[in-house]
Amino acid sequence: MDSLALLASLATLGYSAFYLLMCAAFPFGHCRRCHGTGKLFSKIFTKSFRLCPRCEGTGRRVRIGRRVYEYLRGEYKAGNR
Ligand SMILES: [Zn+2]
Repeated sequence: MDSLALLASLATLGYSAFYLLMCAAFPFGHCRRCHGTGKLFSKIFTKSFRLCPRCEGTGRRVRIGRRVYEYLRGEYKAGNR
């Protein structure tokens, strides 16, 4: 039973490490509000659009995991001084 719990925690650890690695490699995800286009189209005038305020027209957003990664990196650097 103990080894099973260990295996589960190892899998969770491995998954989170993998996720952090992914966030380090691909820090940007699609903006959910504009679906990566950077534009928000008006519902009444479908041809008019304004820049998405959430991503400021870039269509990308920084992943939460990227912030965790940067936080961890900062902690690591602080610890090695
Ligand atoms: Zn957006």
